[in-house]
Amino acid sequence: MERYLQGLGVSPGIAIAPALLFFHDRYDVPTYAVTDLDAEMARLDVAMRETRNDLENIYERVVAELGERHAAIFQAHLMILEDVTLREELTEYLVEHRHNVEHILDTLTKQYVRTMDSVDDPRFRERTADMLDVMDRVLRHLLETERPNLRRLEQESIIVAHDLTPSDTASMDTNKAIGLVIEAGSVTSHSAILARALEIPAVIGIVDAPESVKAGSLVIVDGSSGRVIVDPTRETCKRYVKAQQRLAARRAKLLRVTKGKPACTRDNVNVMLSANIELPLEIEHSLNVNAQGIGLYRTEYLFIDRDSLPDEEEQYEAYAAVARAMQPHPVVLRTIDVGGDKFVSHLQTLKEDNPQLGWRAVRFCLAHPEIFKTQLRAIFRASAHGTIEVMFPMISGLEELRNVKTLVSEVACELDEEDVSFDRNIKFGSMIEVPSAVMLADLLAQENDFFSIGTNDLIQYLLAVDRVNEKIAYLYEPAHPAVVRMIHQTAQAARVHGIPCSICGEMAGDALYTELLLGLGITALSMAPVAIPLIRAEISHIHLEEARTLAKQVLKMRTAKEIKSVLAERHLARAKKYDYLMAPDQFMFSDEDNS
Ligand code: PEP
Ligand code: MG
Repeated sequence: MERYLQGLGVSPGIAIAPALLFFHDRYDVPTYAVTDLDAEMARLDVAMRETRNDLENIYERVVAELGERHAAIFQAHLMILEDVTLREELTEYLVEHRHNVEHILDTLTKQYVRTMDSVDDPRFRERTADMLDVMDRVLRHLLETERPNLRRLEQESIIVAHDLTPSDTASMDTNKAIGLVIEAGSVTSHSAILARALEIPAVIGIVDAPESVKAGSLVIVDGSSGRVIVDPTRETCKRYVKAQQRLAARRAKLLRVTKGKPACTRDNVNVMLSANIELPLEIEHSLNVNAQGIGLYRTEYLFIDRDSLPDEEEQYEAYAAVARAMQPHPVVLRTIDVGGDKFVSHLQTLKEDNPQLGWRAVRFCLAHPEIFKTQLRAIFRASAHGTIEVMFPMISGLEELRNVKTLVSEVACELDEEDVSFDRNIKFGSMIEVPSAVMLADLLAQENDFFSIGTNDLIQYLLAVDRVNEKIAYLYEPAHPAVVRMIHQTAQAARVHGIPCSICGEMAGDALYTELLLGLGITALSMAPVAIPLIRAEISHIHLEEARTLAKQVLKMRTAKEIKSVLAERHLARAKKYDYLMAPDQFMFSDEDNS
């Protein structure tokens, strides 16, 4: 029977395929006595050698496909495998208990995990996951059980899992893994980010995902609405297949008609449309959709999934590569925004009671000037290869901004003394994502070259709604009148002081809000590359004067419901008239589609 499951859509698009249930721990480990200890150790050595081969192969593949940075995790796994104390412990246990090695390995791993789990330090928990990943590979070689992996899939599948580790996601066969349904994670979790980067429709937050779906059942993933349909009826299936075809045709058409054109309103006002990126492979996506620059490069992704900090040289290479690829367009590098839900074990960001209100972004950087200055040096050096702008996350007031700028000046002086070339006109801006920054926008505007509103965080802090907590997701409301007023206040302060004000939160890529944002005074939008063609089309049918009138009306409205209904009506009328509705929910049930 057809079943609907509701989660959080984290990567748009529709995928339809049989479910592939992905478990990590489905095998039994036998226990038996052994007499030939040498033979037993030899079995272990073979299994370890095979594991080493696996890891080296994955490492090389990931380097080739995703770059050195994302492969670093497998080097860490190789180090765990080569840990001599582990081998010594296994030998001692074998001599003492005379059991088969798979049983010994299993027992020792469980003991180790129990010890790690009892330590209240998230770094240990990450280590435990890595350790389990490696031991699982060795055990499977011993048991000759093929480790379930997503590297070679026989047919197109929807991957249904509790969670996906970095190695699962990075080694996934992206031609066959066409959709993801995952229980754990958030919009900013590793699998969600990779799904968006790879443009694979994905839904997260489906409770007991693998238990709620039978292997091989047909599954529809709608990554826009967060809906997952299991065992759909023929009627539903037909509808989604049609929606999928229309979506693909519309995407291709949108790309065709908007390619090479600037985003320009009906009354000829240009709006800068740029891309948000996390991974190097998104540069190509950004160029394909004609992004006019990178409006948000989340540099902290260089720091996660690895065991050591990227040094100045590695960072310089990464930033310079983006600057070169995007020439002559600007690249806005956001300095490291770790903490909150972006946890990086080797930076010692320990678990906090309120991580979203805690030690993150510039707060962390100011406490670690050596890390921050290394990043700033790399950024400055990269500025010689293109147009780089720098923005600081989570600025909450003037002192913080000034402290950050002091470090910036120190770095500039150092580079000057060393005769290193860099762009002396580099622009600096603040992310406006803490309500206090909005209240002080008039003051901050006098000490910034630009503003970029981070609505993802601004909404969470303004409405006191944790952005990654599914239980209160219904309260997370971009159309809340308070959010609208804050955007307006920020844009007006920027206008008065003559600096540009963009939006780089998810709101920028949602066509529902485009007209309102322009009317409120936003001059540039930055979003996931996949959203750019739609927003460009939307802008081409907006008249800025009308948008300003709309914004005035909306600023007087009292509820999100009222605001959303006006925005939806206007957006839908436009998108229907000019045939570019992109969210399947909007066009699937329309008369023309049912015809
Ligand atoms: C935001 O907060 O809106 C933003 C763009 O930054 P991030 O999502 O990385 O916190
Ligand atoms: Mg933010």
